[in-house]
Amino acid sequence: MTTVTRTRDAGRSFSVVTLGCAKNRVDSEGMSTLLLERGYDEREEPSDADVVIVNTCGFLGAARTESIETLQGFVDQRNPGQYIVAAGCLPALRDYSLDLPAGVDKVLTTREWFRIGDTVGSLFGEAPQPQLAGCDGLTTTFTHHHAGPSAYVKIADGCDHACAFCTIPTIKGRQASKRPLHVVQEIVDLVALGSKEIVLVSQDTIRYGADLGMKNGVADLIDMIGEQVPNLPWLRLLYIYPNPIVLKMIDALARHDMCVNYIDMPLQHAHPAVLKRMLRPSNLELTKRILDHARNTLDDVVLRTTLITGFPGETDEEFETLMEFIDEQEFDHVGVFTYSPEPGTVAFDMADPVPAEVAEERRNAIMELQQSISLEHNQKLEGRTLKVLVESIGEVEDENGQVSPVSVGRAYRHAPEVDGLVFIDGEQPVGEFVDATVYAGTEYDLWARVDAVIA
Ligand code: SF4
Repeated sequence: MTTVTRTRDAGRSFSVVTLGCAKNRVDSEGMSTLLLERGYDEREEPSDADVVIVNTCGFLGAARTESIETLQGFVDQRNPGQYIVAAGCLPALRDYSLDLPAGVDKVLTTREWFRIGDTVGSLFGEAPQPQLAGCDGLTTTFTHHHAGPSAYVKIADGCDHACAFCTIPTIKGRQASKRPLHVVQEIVDLVALGSKEIVLVSQDTIRYGADLGMKNGVADLIDMIGEQVPNLPWLRLLYIYPNPIVLKMIDALARHDMCVNYIDMPLQHAHPAVLKRMLRPSNLELTKRILDHARNTLDDVVLRTTLITGFPGETDEEFETLMEFIDEQEFDHVGVFTYSPEPGTVAFDMADPVPAEVAEERRNAIMELQQSISLEHNQKLEGRTLKVLVESIGEVEDENGQVSPVSVGRAYRHAPEVDGLVFIDGEQPVGEFVDATVYAGTEYDLWARVDAVIA
C-alpha cells in the first residue's frame, strides 16, 4: 500500500465530475484519492470547489458532445478564481481535444490521470512532487478513503483487439493489467471500508493478465480473491469477450460462493458475416458452447449481452438471424445500441451504410422482443426469496396519492447501473443485505417484501 505525505495545508478543494462508463468512475476515484492524499478537500458540489475536474467520455459522438457541453457549462459558470480541468478520454482523442472549450485551464488524458496531483498543484504554483515509483494507476494500490456498498475495481486498462466500430484502442492503447496482488489489496481495503460487492471491470476482462504472462489470468485472479478475501460477499465481473478462456472463468466462478452467477458477454451481433465485418469473433458455435456451459455449471445463471444494430451492410436477413438468436438464447438482460460511425475506426469508411431510421427500427424490434423475455423471467421469480443489497431509500406513490418509503437495491441478477432494480416495501438498512420475497416482476424491475436482514 502506498502512503503519500501531505505537503500542504488543507483548504483548497476539488470536485470530480464523471461522465461515461464504470471504468471512468474508477479513474475518478483514483484521482480523488490522490488529491485527498495530497491534502486537498473534496466537495460534492462543483460550485463549492476551487478546482473542477471533468472526467470526460470520448467513446461515441453523443458522449463527446456531452463532454464538451459539460466543460463549456463549467467554464461559463465558474466562480472567480475557480479552475477547470479536462481529464479522461476526450483529450486522448487528438482531433477532439482541439474542440475543448477555450477556458479549460489544464488537460490530462485518460492515460495520465495519476498525474492529477501535480496538475492541480501547478494551478496553485506548487512544485511537482516526486512521482511514486511505478505509479501509473495500475501498478500501484491506493488507499481508498470512502467506499459504497458496491465498488468497482479496474483490473486492466486498454484493449488489444481492433473491433471495426470502436475507438477505445486509439484512446487507451494496448492492454495493461494491474498486478493480482494489487487487485487483492484494493479489494481487502474496500471490504474493510464496508463494500459488500466488488465489480471487476476493464475493457476486455477475459484477457486480464495476458500482458503479465498469465495464461488463465482471470480464472487465477478469481481463485486468488476467493482464497485471500473470504469475507467478500459478492464478486461480479463485467465485459467478458467471447473466447475459450471464458469456459475456464465459468469453472472458477463455480468454485467460489462469493462469485455471483452472472455473465456479461457483449456479443454485438449473431450473424457470422456481420461479426467478421466487425472484426469480432464469428464462431457462433463457441459462443453457444460458452452460454450452455454457463447454464449447466452455474445455478440460475443470469446472462447479459450488448448488441449493435445498423452496422454497415447489415441486411434484413442478417438482422433476422440476430432476432432468432435473441429468441433462442433468452438472455436476461440485453443492451442495444444503434451503430455510430466513429472517425478513425475501420468501419467509418465502410460501404453500404444502414439508414439511421432502419437501425432504430431494428433496435426497437430487439428491445420489444427482449422485454417480453425479461418479463417472463421476472414473473417466474414471483414467490422466490432473493438476497438483496440495499443501496438507497426512495418514495413511492400509490393510486390514491399515498406516499410511502421504498428501499432500492439489487439482487445477484442485477449489475449496478445497467440492469433493473429490486424495490422493497418500507425502509431497510442501506448498505446491508436483506432476504426479500418477490411479489411482482415487471420488464425490468422486481418488487419484493423483506423477510430478514442478513447479519
Ligand atoms: S473488445 Fe472491441 S469493443 Fe471492446 S474495447 Fe476492445 S476494441 Fe473496443
